[in-house]
Amino acid sequence: MLIGLLSDPHANLPALEAVLADVDHVRPDALVCLGDFVGYGAQPNEVVDALRDRCNVSLAGNHDLLALGQFDLEMVNTAAAAAIRWTSVRLTPSTMEFLEGLSARGSFEGLELAHASLRDPVWEYVFDTWVAEQNFKEHSFAVAVVGHTHVPAVFWLSDGDVGGSRVSPPPGAGQAEFRIAEPRLMLNPGGIGQPRDGDPRASWATWETDTRAFTLRRVNYPVEEAQRAIRGAGLPESLAARLSLGL
Ligand code: ZN
Repeated sequence: MLIGLLSDPHANLPALEAVLADVDHVRPDALVCLGDFVGYGAQPNEVVDALRDRCNVSLAGNHDLLALGQFDLEMVNTAAAAAIRWTSVRLTPSTMEFLEGLSARGSFEGLELAHASLRDPVWEYVFDTWVAEQNFKEHSFAVAVVGHTHVPAVFWLSDGDVGGSRVSPPPGAGQAEFRIAEPRLMLNPGGIGQPRDGDPRASWATWETDTRAFTLRRVNYPVEEAQRAIRGAGLPESLAARLSLGL
């Protein structure tokens, strides 16, 4: 079974539409969405509407929970908090109902899913092998998929040692396939709506359950359209500017 892995669309509709066009091209058998539908971008309801019926499993991210008022805004930086304040008064009743029904933790076809990490599904960033190791030790999953960092990555456990790092396609390429023989893996498909690895292209991935191939895909989208929406909404300029850099 080929499973599409989507994360962190962050109210960026132009990025999401480009990714969904690529999804339609690849035609995975199922889709999971790891959360952070809203926050940072200017089209939260449109992004939820585009995804809610397509994803077999949807998780809540920290920004979704912040927008629902479930955490204090002091947990995030000033620009993120401004975007959450803007978002929370614009969510439609149906978007709120959808987000309120989500959990930050789930599973699908043998994959353990969390927005952030298995130890802390809402907040912990799995950026390095030390954090990955704590998750491998404290939870007994075979293959876990997390988002939250907006940086595509693969970590693995091999004879008690944890390896892995961020991953990206070779220069000029739109995709890269990784096959890691180790039985225990943590995968991160990167972020759709606000990539942070220096590549401004939207990021998503697929996992093939039989061959264990993790394929990372990067998709060009009209960044200026997302920026125009952010500026038109009066959201912080930094949220528009960073999209050009993928940071
Ligand atoms: Zn996020």
